[in-house]
Amino acid sequence: MKLIAPDYYTKFQCIADRCRHSCCIGWVIDVDADTLEYYHSVEGTLGERLKNGIDEGGETPHFILGEEERCPFLNQNGLCDIITELGEGALCQICTDHPRYRNFYSDRTEIGLGLCCEAAGELILKRKEKTTLVVLEDDGENEELDVPDESLLTWREQLFAIAQNRNLTIEERVVSVLNAAEFAIPARSLVEWADIYLELERLEESWTDRLQEMKDTDISDAPLLGTAEWEIAFEQLLVYFLYRQLPFALDDGEYEGRAAFCVLSYRIIRDLCRVHAVLHGGVGLDDLVDLARQYSAEIEYSDENVEALLDALFEE
Ligand code: SF4
Repeated sequence: MKLIAPDYYTKFQCIADRCRHSCCIGWVIDVDADTLEYYHSVEGTLGERLKNGIDEGGETPHFILGEEERCPFLNQNGLCDIITELGEGALCQICTDHPRYRNFYSDRTEIGLGLCCEAAGELILKRKEKTTLVVLEDDGENEELDVPDESLLTWREQLFAIAQNRNLTIEERVVSVLNAAEFAIPARSLVEWADIYLELERLEESWTDRLQEMKDTDISDAPLLGTAEWEIAFEQLLVYFLYRQLPFALDDGEYEGRAAFCVLSYRIIRDLCRVHAVLHGGVGLDDLVDLARQYSAEIEYSDENVEALLDALFEE
């Protein structure tokens, strides 16, 4: 079995106390059985805090969030008390993994970094080189790639090549991606798309504000964000979505819809950037990282929201 990742993967580092949108705030964090057993064995003050800080009453044990939905072990300096006292190896599986995600194939596991993490967003969206995939581990077993996996990976390679063709503008590339998928995104105004996104489940109030701004702001005179710097950033965004989202088609058969979802996600984030430019007198890649972070957290991490958008893509 091989472990495959985008080439930037190994450069990732959590920025901990410098993180402005910590994943230790606002998310329910489940504690896996092995870690829970270990936590039961911890003695002293931290052991007592672990006992009181985990809800074991329901189906899945999880940390009991405190004020402002903070993890009870996130201290006022923005550091994790579990890491400080016991080391990184003492973290539960979810905390160890985040912001990593995995997709599984017959001969490989693919791993990546989610844009919901601002440090990952910085790394992915500000890189200039074309993203490639690298083999991080290989146990030499050479398992056979089954037919559906092989055809998906071949198709994704073609879509990557289109997305990374720097002889075309990014808009020309997404049109080619849609043509390759033989899919036409229904013609809707930004206001109509905003209404669809406003109907979805939302986590942060500021996301609602952004969608409302998208609805209320005329972007016809907004910058087109077609400079080389933006084109490359949008390419990275599109490649990120293709890498992460296409494999779900193996489960639901929605190959064309999943490709269109990637294009839609890029276009909505691009237009949120243009809205930001109109309302704030300009926009930069830091704003892109932040908007992509919020989009990823609100949409990608909710199966219901992705399903609802797939439905919207198929509705006229
Ligand atoms: S969101 Fe990313 S950078 Fe911030 S605390 Fe979590 S893993 Fe670290």
